[in-house]
Amino acid sequence: MNHNKVIIIGSGPAGYTAALYTARANLSPLLFEGFFSGPAGGQLMLTTDVENYPGFPQGIEGAELMNAFRKQCERFGTTLLTEDVSSVDLSSHPFKVTGSKTTLTCDALIIATGATAKRLDIPGAGEEGFWQKGVTACAVCDGAMPIFRNKELFVIGGGDSAVEEAVFLTKYGSKVYIVHRRDQLRASKIMAERALSHPKVEVLWDSVVTKIEGNKIVRSVTLKNVKTDQETKHEAAGVFFALGHTPNTAFLQGQLPTNETGYLVIKKPGTTLTAIEGVFACGDVQDPHYRQAVTAAGSGCMAALDTERWLTEKGL
Ligand code: NAP
Repeated sequence: MNHNKVIIIGSGPAGYTAALYTARANLSPLLFEGFFSGPAGGQLMLTTDVENYPGFPQGIEGAELMNAFRKQCERFGTTLLTEDVSSVDLSSHPFKVTGSKTTLTCDALIIATGATAKRLDIPGAGEEGFWQKGVTACAVCDGAMPIFRNKELFVIGGGDSAVEEAVFLTKYGSKVYIVHRRDQLRASKIMAERALSHPKVEVLWDSVVTKIEGNKIVRSVTLKNVKTDQETKHEAAGVFFALGHTPNTAFLQGQLPTNETGYLVIKKPGTTLTAIEGVFACGDVQDPHYRQAVTAAGSGCMAALDTERWLTEKGL
């Protein structure tokens, strides 16, 4: 079985940055960039313009940015495997990583598998409909797009993300509706109050979106009151899913502790160390709070430095 000093799982900003730094430290990392699990490059591959990644004053396409990350870590000697990891065995050292075609071992493992924004299967919300043509799962990434300016926008969800994104979107939209399936928000009181007291925000209680329609971009949503079953059609330019994220940890089969919402737990705050020595975690898979490309890249760098230090300490 092929042995590597460092294996990285995941190809978003965190994984590629961890690869760049470990490659430049002469650790010859091997990175599983995924295949069926989604395009190599992670969530940014699903967005259009990225305008908040520092260094690009005019913004940059998400896919272009991630291709640049990929090329940069390849340039310094990262081996990229276009395969999903189906399982890992962390019960003994060296660790075993099983991909869809290849099984390898490693001294240190960096987990950077990210998180997937939850979406709803509403007619009109998918790729064949208006996904990225007014329907998105990231207000911070996409909210400033011209199609949303001075238009009526709809945020689906009732948690902290929903209320935070609704307030954020008031900068752009003429009115922001929060569509929540219940009659009570899940969001913390203080954040909810900020949204509820905002003159441009209105909560549509006990409501769900049942249809999204438009021409080239979103033009309307159909809402249903779940208590009365009454349906109404509303003019709309944007639909923002704010339903939370699912961290991508299924392949770990419970070998590392997670918090109550499924995020990997970091053993020592401010580092990337997990409960198992030699296993590091970075990016959105361990970050329920910030979830930005730049913070993911930063934590990928931290994981690489923690890994290098640990390998040196162990004489590996
Ligand atoms: P969340 O707390 O899990 O909330 C998800 C919301 O989406 C809930 O209101 C839920 O409704 C709704 N939802 C889920 N599935 C749905 C479906 N199929 N149809 C309709 N609605 C559905 O997720 P989050 O808001 O992303 O927050 C995640 C974590 O990050 C939380 O711990 C939160 O406090 C934290 N966070 C913090 C900040 C901050 O402090 N600045 C900002 C954002 C997030 P129900 O309420 O009915 O279940």
